[in-house]
Amino acid sequence: MTKPVFRFAPSPNGRLHLGHAYSALLNTEMAHQFGGRFLLRIEDIDVTRCRPEYEAAIYEDLAWLGLRWEEPARRQSEHFGDYRTAFSTLKGRGLVYPCFCSRKDIAEAVACREVEEQAWPRDPDGAALYPGTCKGIPAGEAERRIAGGEAHAWRIDMGRALAAAPGPHGYRRFDREGAEEVCAADPGRWGDAVLVRKDVPTSYHLSVVVDDALQGITHVVRGKDLEAATDLHVLLQSLLGLPTPRYHHHGLVLDLTGDKLSKSRQSEALADLRLRGASAADVWQRLGFAPQPIPST
Ligand code: GLU
Repeated sequence: MTKPVFRFAPSPNGRLHLGHAYSALLNTEMAHQFGGRFLLRIEDIDVTRCRPEYEAAIYEDLAWLGLRWEEPARRQSEHFGDYRTAFSTLKGRGLVYPCFCSRKDIAEAVACREVEEQAWPRDPDGAALYPGTCKGIPAGEAERRIAGGEAHAWRIDMGRALAAAPGPHGYRRFDREGAEEVCAADPGRWGDAVLVRKDVPTSYHLSVVVDDALQGITHVVRGKDLEAATDLHVLLQSLLGLPTPRYHHHGLVLDLTGDKLSKSRQSEALADLRLRGASAADVWQRLGFAPQPIPST
């Protein structure tokens, strides 16, 4: 049997906090326990929000925590071609369509529907499902608008995608002891999700699925905030003929008020804890990991 492969995949759009540390430590602990490899992936498709200094800080913070990963880390911004190839496969099968809507267009269309049809369905992240405004645009007209330089995203046509890969969809969920169970997935609840954003030639969903396959990831360990996204990932894997890894969605580290830690809420960064005199061992302990000898380099 080939070795299990784990990965930690942070985005360099802010400093890492305790929640990231938990995910990274759990990944390495499980990789060690299952005799596997541990990879690092820099998820920097968002070229406006990601910054080199945050990427450098990721390496610094993880090394300070005592983690080691296989070099070089994969940097998503260097692999847009891989995401384009996957997208072309979906486009060639007629499973995506261009969308010219702005956020405002969508909000207005949804507001109209909400008047007519009451509550409009939401995706698992709480965003209104795309009301399908651009789905009916004839191909010739869409091509003309694209050729004219009009900004556009590409959305999955969920109806067609589910017809092409009817399922049932699911994946194997594993726990810290290595026990596994089959978990059903319901990709339809994401509606016509964006697969290629207006500003970059991919999206989180498309690139994570492509990269997990290209890097041979067998075990995905990530937070519960991404559990619902797995349903869409499983569908994309099926449409693209890619293997589905096993998944473990861990609980989120909460701040003192019970909210999940986040970069946007300025949650305390690992670097701040370090400056205030915390040691890596303190962080391991605070997150419930057994103390480990921190390798010296
Ligand atoms: N880049 C994502 C984040 O920082 C994690 C992606 C994943 O683990 O699938 O939240």
